[in-house]
Order: sequence, then C-alpha cells, then structure tokens
Amino acid sequence: MASSGSWDKSIAKFVTPVGGSQAGFQSKLGVTKRPKKSYVHLRERQILRQVATRLYFGAKQRAIKKDLDTPVEVQMMYTGGNVFVGSNLYSTAESLHKILSSQRRTENTLIKDSFFKTKTSIGGRTTDRHGKKLSERMYNGKMRKKWTGGPFVDLASRKRATHIADIIKDIQPEYIDPSDKKQVAAAFGKQGHIYVLHGGGNGRHVEEKFTDMIESAKHTGKTYIGGKMRPCLTCSGRMTHSNQQGSDLDFSEFPGRVWKSRFEAQASDVRAVTTNLAKTKPSHVSQFGGSGYGSGSDSD
Ligand SMILES: [Zn+2]
Repeated sequence: MASSGSWDKSIAKFVTPVGGSQAGFQSKLGVTKRPKKSYVHLRERQILRQVATRLYFGAKQRAIKKDLDTPVEVQMMYTGGNVFVGSNLYSTAESLHKILSSQRRTENTLIKDSFFKTKTSIGGRTTDRHGKKLSERMYNGKMRKKWTGGPFVDLASRKRATHIADIIKDIQPEYIDPSDKKQVAAAFGKQGHIYVLHGGGNGRHVEEKFTDMIESAKHTGKTYIGGKMRPCLTCSGRMTHSNQQGSDLDFSEFPGRVWKSRFEAQASDVRAVTTNLAKTKPSHVSQFGGSGYGSGSDSD
C-alpha cells in the first residue's frame, strides 16, 4: 500500500477533482464524450457488456428487495474458454450467483425484466435494446443461426460470443476466490465453466480482481473484459501494466475517471503506468449515457 504522498508527487498535477465527494478525478486534458460504439470484431466484449449491464440491474432490483448494498458495478471476462462474472461488492456477487443459478431467473434478467419505470427513458430504451439483442443471440435459435450464418467479417468473434452465451445460459455458476491461487490455477485448467468472483477484497474494483487472477495463473491467452461501465483510468493503468508484462487483456481503450484510493493501492510500477495514462489520455463519458443510467457507462 502506497503512502498518500505518492498521489501528490506523481498523478496529482495531471488530474482535477470532479464535483461530488465520490466522483473521483478526471484528466486535465478534459472529458471526451464517446458516441455509441460499433462492436464489429468486438462481439465478445459486446455480449459481455450487454449481459453485465442487465445482470447489474437484476442485482440492483434484488438489493432493493432484500435491503442489500446497492451494486456499484458488474464486469465480465472471457478467457481460456471460461466466463467470469465479477462485482466490487460481495453482496452483489451473491445476487449474481443467485440469478445465474436458475435458468429461468437468468432468462428473465437478461431478456424479460424491465428495470426502468418507462421504456422511453434513456435507461429503459438502452436496457430494452440490450434485452432484444440478447434474446436474438441467446434464446432464438433461428435468429441466432442467422447471426452466425456468415459470411461476416467478424465471424470468429461472433462464434466466441455464441460460446459465451451458451455458458451463461446453460452452465451452473461456481464461486471462485480471486485471491486463492490454487482455485484460480484450477479454473484456468478447465473449460466451459462460469465463475462468480467472491473474495479478493470487498470494494476493490472488478478489473483489479480479474488482473490479479490472470497474473497469478500466469495466463497469457487472449482475455476479453467488458462490463456495465468503462474501466476507470486507475484500472486501465493496472491492465495496461499487466499487458506490458505479457498478459493479453482486451478492454475499452477509452478510460473513465481516476479514483484516488485505488491509485494509492497500486504498486509503484503500476502507478507509473496509471500516471502516464492520466497525462496522455482525456477522461471519457458516454454521449448517450444520460441520467438514471450511469454517466460512466458505454452506450451500447
Ligand atoms: Zn476501476
């Protein structure tokens, strides 16, 4: 754990606080609004993002019902033929496990439930669109055949997305503790499983836990990461550093904000990479994110 002096001496001059005590910092290069993204060739990240977003709202609905902490984020990872689902909070992990343990609950959460009061709000429209796409690609045999029927420029990417869909739909989830090296090594030795992360620090960002696992398993295979929100700049620094050390992490190249506590928890060589990102990249928000939907979220 770094001392708070590390913040002042390195990254502080490149960032500026954003209003609100929990809002973190943004790059002094400013905030760039990202338009809706095209996911051609990025179908793995697209489906991870759509599923993560709907699972997030499913977990949020359950949190309200059961009086649990409000979920912060849900992110997913696909690598080595396995799917991983992670959240910052342990209580969210338990909700995700509960949803994914039942095929009926999974289907309802992914394609049926409406999480917004009106379907015409920005959030309502977006989650509705995600639900429709997931319905076609996961639950409608005819549409799905069409989607992978080719020839498409990104056919290989579509086929991997279909594998992700099958695992989520059909396989019972198992818990994995990302800080348990034995469990992590065993998971990377198998294929076709879905793991819900539980452990590794309540409140730490999901991408930190994913990167811990990749590094502890010395896993160098292609790894797709996608979630409800774009990675914060701090996690982008951690993942960029990991790629420099031999990992192959695919994640959004448009980072969001900087979180001081997460920066201070980084090792000094990781902090150097994060500082360099803050110096060279603006912060990003989604143009169509809109109120009620989370300004840090990608739009599609
Ligand atoms: Zn983060």
